[in-house]
Amino acid sequence: MDSFEKLKILGQASKYDMCGCGRPNEDDYIKNGIYRVHTPDGICSIFKVLLTNKCHRDCAYCVNRFENNTERTSFTPEELAKVFMEVRRRHSIQGLFLSSAIDKNPDSDMSSLIDTAKILRTRYNFKGYIHMKVMPGASRAAIEEASKVANRLSLNIEVPSERYMERLTRAKRFGEILNGMSEIKRLKDKGIRVSQTTQFIVGAAGESDREIVDEAYRLKREFNLARVYFSAFRPVEGTPMEGKEPTPLMREYRLYQVDFLFSQYGFKPEDLSYEKDGNLPMDKDPKYVFALNHPEIYPVEINTADYNLLLLVPGIGPVSAKRILERRVKDPYHSIDELKGTGTVLKRARPFITINGKSFTEENKPKQLSFI
Ligand code: SF4
Repeated sequence: MDSFEKLKILGQASKYDMCGCGRPNEDDYIKNGIYRVHTPDGICSIFKVLLTNKCHRDCAYCVNRFENNTERTSFTPEELAKVFMEVRRRHSIQGLFLSSAIDKNPDSDMSSLIDTAKILRTRYNFKGYIHMKVMPGASRAAIEEASKVANRLSLNIEVPSERYMERLTRAKRFGEILNGMSEIKRLKDKGIRVSQTTQFIVGAAGESDREIVDEAYRLKREFNLARVYFSAFRPVEGTPMEGKEPTPLMREYRLYQVDFLFSQYGFKPEDLSYEKDGNLPMDKDPKYVFALNHPEIYPVEINTADYNLLLLVPGIGPVSAKRILERRVKDPYHSIDELKGTGTVLKRARPFITINGKSFTEENKPKQLSFI
């Protein structure tokens, strides 16, 4: 099998790992390991590939688990570095996401990933972005070596506790993933410039949104994570979970909204409300639910509220809150239409604000219940 035939298999096999913002759309997989990635700075292309899809582990959701009947192959580090440079010569690619199944043992597979990155850095003088997956169970020495060649390292936590991990695999341990994350944090604290992310598979093990949210919040703070990704479970043919219902994409979307409320709006886990089953409401966004559950805060007066209070209004975000403050210093607001230029989503904000004491709830009551 030549290198580009291998690439067809190992490029596609990497699609279950997140490396940009949120789930890639179906058309975000372009070809031969090239993925379109949505970042806060816009859309870019990244080369995502597995070094091997040969795996001796048994993760019940995974296309690469040892019992699954799928075509198997591997690159050598030399081969993969050469393929990457060739793909980069032909296409505009901003970086590389380097991952692997576990063929031999965590350190041996890490060593091949590190060798690939070293060849790129030294022989090909590649100075661009490299995101490298850390194998659960990798040693301290292997993680330290990886941190010298990669810009970002990640271990996928997948589930919120050991109890759920045991439902998905006998081979991975929740504790060994936490140990790896802790090691990356230690290296960062020592001054090594490497960032860290993780990913949850949503709905694979019967866990609730509340459990995912609480654990994601804790991990982000404890290990200083740059991002947490959420990937709705999708059944893969030939695996023990092929008959399980896929997780609705809206569940994944709500978790990203919550993560955004934590990072941009100063929300905390105790500010959220859940359904009886512990999941976030699917039909209302979490900020709107917060507003409905806190009538003591609303309506918010646009001409006097401080930045943090403005941020609690559905339809007002960090940018629009700043614009409102800037404008009202010189020129207080007189009508709701004057908010149009700030980026405020008026139909969302209307029931929750006043301007000089004037409320806008009554005139829009029918819409209030349908804008979510
Ligand atoms: S370790 Fe588990 S998730 Fe990773 S490739 Fe192997 S079976 Fe898949």
